[in-house]
Amino acid sequence: MKRSRRRTLAISVLPDGTVEVTAPVGAAIEKIREKVEKRAGWITRQRRSFAALSARRPPRRYCAGATHRYLGRQYRLKVTAGDEQSVKLKGAFLCVISRTGSEKSVAALLAGWMRERAREQFGRRLAKWYEWCNKQGRPNPRLRLLAMPKRWGSAHKDGWVALNPELVRAPSHCIDYVIAHELCHLKHPQHDKAFFVELDRLCPKWKTLKARLESMEL
Ligand SMILES: [Zn+2]
Repeated sequence: MKRSRRRTLAISVLPDGTVEVTAPVGAAIEKIREKVEKRAGWITRQRRSFAALSARRPPRRYCAGATHRYLGRQYRLKVTAGDEQSVKLKGAFLCVISRTGSEKSVAALLAGWMRERAREQFGRRLAKWYEWCNKQGRPNPRLRLLAMPKRWGSAHKDGWVALNPELVRAPSHCIDYVIAHELCHLKHPQHDKAFFVELDRLCPKWKTLKARLESMEL
C-alpha cells in the first residue's frame, strides 16, 4: 500500500496479480480494508484476466530459430559455437556466437546485448529532451537502467529516469512514449490532471502508443 496526497482511494491490479492500493495520508486502515473488500469481485476478475494473458504467453526461448524483438521488429536467432562470443544483427537475424551454445549462455549474451542497445537508444532519445528540461529550468535527466518486473519506467524528482532495459524490444515510438511519461513525472509526481495535460502536450498520441505497447508480445 502506498500513501499519497490524493484525496480518494485508488485500487489497481498489476499484471503479476499484485493489488496496489493508494490511500490518502490520513485514511484509517479499517476504512481502507472495507473499501478494498467491496472491490473484491472486481479484483478477482482483473487477476483472472491477467493470469489468462500470461498463460497464453509462452516463455522466451534462446535456441536457434526462436524469435526476439528489437525496436519492435522481429529477428530470428542464429546460434554458432565459437570462442569469440558476440551478438550481431544481420538482416532478419540476431547472430549469436556462444562458447557452449546452451540456451542459458545465449540468454545471458542476448541480455547483455539488449542492455547495451538500451543504454544507447534510451540515452539518445532522452537527450532530445535536454532543451525542454532547460526551458523548465531543470537539470538534464540522467538515465538509469533498471530491470523492473512490473513496469517500464520510473522517475525521481532529482532528475533520475529509470527505464527497464526490456523496453528496447518495443517499437521506438513506444519507447518515446514511456520516456515522455517519465519526464512528465519530473514535474508532476502523481497521475493527476496536470500530469495528463502535460503528457498530451509532450506526446499527443500517447493513448495509441500505450495500447500498442500493452498488446504487444515483447
Ligand atoms: Zn506514471
